Amino acid sequence: MRILVINAGSSSLKYQLYDMADESVLASGRVERIGMDSSIVTHEPAGKAEVRDVSEILEHTTAIKRVLDMLIHKQHGVIASIEDIQAVGHRIVHGGEVFKSSVLVTSEVKLEIRRLFDLAPLHNPAHMMGIAAVEANMPGTPQAVVFDTAFHQTMPETSYLYPIPKVLYRRHKVRRYGFHGTSHAYVSEMAARYLSQPIDSLKMITCHIGNGASCAAIRGGESIDTSMGMTPLEGLMMGTRSGDIDPAIVPYVMNKEDLTINEVNSMLNKHSGMLAVSGLSSDMREVTEAMEEGDKHAALAFDMYVYRLKKYIGAYAAAMNGVDAIVFTAGVGENSSALRKAVVDGITFLGLELDEERNALRSKEAREITTDASRVKALVVPTNEELLIARDTYKLTHGQKL
Ligand code: ADP
Repeated sequence: MRILVINAGSSSLKYQLYDMADESVLASGRVERIGMDSSIVTHEPAGKAEVRDVSEILEHTTAIKRVLDMLIHKQHGVIASIEDIQAVGHRIVHGGEVFKSSVLVTSEVKLEIRRLFDLAPLHNPAHMMGIAAVEANMPGTPQAVVFDTAFHQTMPETSYLYPIPKVLYRRHKVRRYGFHGTSHAYVSEMAARYLSQPIDSLKMITCHIGNGASCAAIRGGESIDTSMGMTPLEGLMMGTRSGDIDPAIVPYVMNKEDLTINEVNSMLNKHSGMLAVSGLSSDMREVTEAMEEGDKHAALAFDMYVYRLKKYIGAYAAAMNGVDAIVFTAGVGENSSALRKAVVDGITFLGLELDEERNALRSKEAREITTDASRVKALVVPTNEELLIARDTYKLTHGQKL
């Protein structure tokens, strides 16, 4: 069974074709600059050379057509015909309160996703274009949707409500949703497998630390709290996002600097976080290098980033009244041994003991970075959101339980 996984953005689209017999990736790639004159398709067939094609792609239906052409191409292709793709799975950022798990696409589901446009105005409309483009190119092929928010729908009211007037929740659905759910779900599952313990018995704190960053408190396999909120701005300090700040700063700064809503939104989402504090970059590699060369602003950015992450780990250990494992994943979590060392060495009171050699190792496999004697384990688990989307799509199209 071949499953095509699609992550459609407004001007780009990423894809992976999976063979579910062994969960191998047959090909992956991306279409960039959709809607502009010179759009680029980059196609990477497994075991063959990468191909780049520049042409005009004005909308998503043509983008999907080009992807399919690549997949069945005589030289760069990996399948004989489009009919060899049995199902398509889409990543959807916002599932609101409606979607508590992945589902097959129906007209009802599409309507619900449209109703959620207000909550994710940059993402959900683009995902819908992806779904429509697949329908146009592959009529009759089953499609599934996998939501970034769904995994966090198990959060109790105490976690998801904001202490603000209830009417805002009733009228406008103002509540905490959380994001990166596919990643938190995937790495917590893999961590339980690595530890050879049933997930029902574990208390885990998963830290998805990439450009965007969030932590989740996972008890018995269910998310009971997560650091992103109604939008991905809440929580940890990130590459360019502020994370938690006093909300009163917003009207104060708008007034003092004469900023519009869009400007203040952009300031907090695109010009804050590590970029603002370091005055240098939102990229952890560059910040770490500058810090090692003695740059004080970079060092402050790194220290604040670590400090805020440690506070969330402490909070979630308290929220669950204990923790068995802390899991690091995504660009920074998987690659920055400096970040992991600073965090783990700063929370030894919880029962963690870092193994420096294990922490310094580079590997694509799940691994422990604490010592054998460490009571609480710290693990690095490479995330793979696309694989989870492919797995859910497979199960849904086979009538299996998710
Ligand atoms: P996104 O949230 O865009 O998916 P990623 O998960 O790819 O982001 O993470 C990007 C971040 O990972 C960047 O800050 C980058 O510097 C960091 N990163 C990647 N490789 C390394 C590395 N070897 N050491 C430190 N940080 C790294």
